[in-house]
Amino acid sequence: MNGQPSEYAAYNEDAFEAAVRAAQKSLSEGGIPIGAALARGNEVIASGHNERVQHGDPIAHGEMSALRAAGRQRSYRDTTLYTTLAPCAMCTGTIIQFKIPRVVVGEARTFPGEFELLRSRGVEVLVLDDQRSFDMMRSFQQDHPELWAEDIAEDALPEPA
Ligand SMILES: [Zn+2]
Repeated sequence: MNGQPSEYAAYNEDAFEAAVRAAQKSLSEGGIPIGAALARGNEVIASGHNERVQHGDPIAHGEMSALRAAGRQRSYRDTTLYTTLAPCAMCTGTIIQFKIPRVVVGEARTFPGEFELLRSRGVEVLVLDDQRSFDMMRSFQQDHPELWAEDIAEDALPEPA
């Protein structure tokens, strides 16, 4: 992966920036720095961020919050979901359920997500390898390993000796 999305050149930069801003906002609130946005063409419909810490809501991953903020949509078939981090199994299930055809991902280095499942269901996945998304997650994982483990339903790592 060279970070240059050459194969699929076009994506909505405003939508991705909205996702990054949402992640930064979450981080500034002491929350998990993952943001997402839903877009239809050039229109950014809504954005959201992980709300596990802010609202005590374990289901409110960034993608879920953005979809909730977007409200009812007649169809998702002409939409793209933008997210700063590779989607987990729950969010991947929602993407498949809503028939969202395309996902643009900030980074998949700190968490691999479910690309294989997405692609097996015909979802196009574009990874930007965005440095800001990576840096936010890496710092957060180092500073709050228990919180990160909780978000992805892993047992917390032992304290370093
Ligand atoms: Zn998720």
